[in-house]
Amino acid sequence: MNKIAKILLITIALFTISSGANAATLIKIVAAENFYGNVAKTIGGPQVTVTSILSNPNQDPHLFEADVETAKAVSTADIAIYSGADYDPWMLKLLKASPNSERTTIDAAALTGHKPGDNPHIWYDPKTIPAVAKALTADLSTKDSANAELYHQRLEAFLASLHPLTELIAKLKTSYAGTPVTATEPVFGYMAKALGLDMRNQGFQIAIMNNTAPSAKDVAAFENDLRNKTVKVLFYNSQVTDHTTTTMLNLAKENGIPVVGVTETEPANEDYVTWMTDQLDALNQALGSAEK
Ligand SMILES: [Zn+2]
Repeated sequence: MNKIAKILLITIALFTISSGANAATLIKIVAAENFYGNVAKTIGGPQVTVTSILSNPNQDPHLFEADVETAKAVSTADIAIYSGADYDPWMLKLLKASPNSERTTIDAAALTGHKPGDNPHIWYDPKTIPAVAKALTADLSTKDSANAELYHQRLEAFLASLHPLTELIAKLKTSYAGTPVTATEPVFGYMAKALGLDMRNQGFQIAIMNNTAPSAKDVAAFENDLRNKTVKVLFYNSQVTDHTTTTMLNLAKENGIPVVGVTETEPANEDYVTWMTDQLDALNQALGSAEK
């Protein structure tokens, strides 16, 4: 072996050792849902690895059951983020099954004053994502104090990136507060509240969320709202569907009521701001055209 080859081999070996050590010191974050995982990547940057459990936009998260791989991701995590308020009860079970005093957890619902029994789709509440980002920054800064400044800089940049969304919400609220709307499932509930919309048929929506049949009375009220054009928009959750939601979707279309598609999980290749902005733009378009 010539001298250059030897140097090259030693260099490769050293590089492997240093990158191996680096990988071992990365902070492992597990997020029950991908919108929290996305925030974790933004704040944690190259100092963290992130595993998001719920990320499939074609799957009903309310029916999710954890597998062995999920259990492993949770048991080896340094930080676990979950939504709480009964949205992801499997996460609590997995955390209990693998006790670790070094691991910290962020319960987004507890952090933002939401309780079990409340609408569990709390990431649609504009105050939730900033609160999770701040809690995570504090956690990361404690675990990796050498990079605390870096985490805080990323937090500031992230919070600044939310400003256009906050402004859009305020603008739509000014235009549409009080507008009667309906939805097949309560995923958009907190955002509808932030916009001041009059959300109807909530009993129907909870039944669909819980994978149970809505009462005949709730179905009739929903159908009347569509036939009488009482509601100006139907929010349709494409991830939580059954024959009843399809019936309502078709009835809305027949009666010329605009449909705004909403999802539980963040679509691939989008971040929280673009996801929410796209949905709000679609709503603005739907209500704008409904006024004419
Ligand atoms: Zn839902």
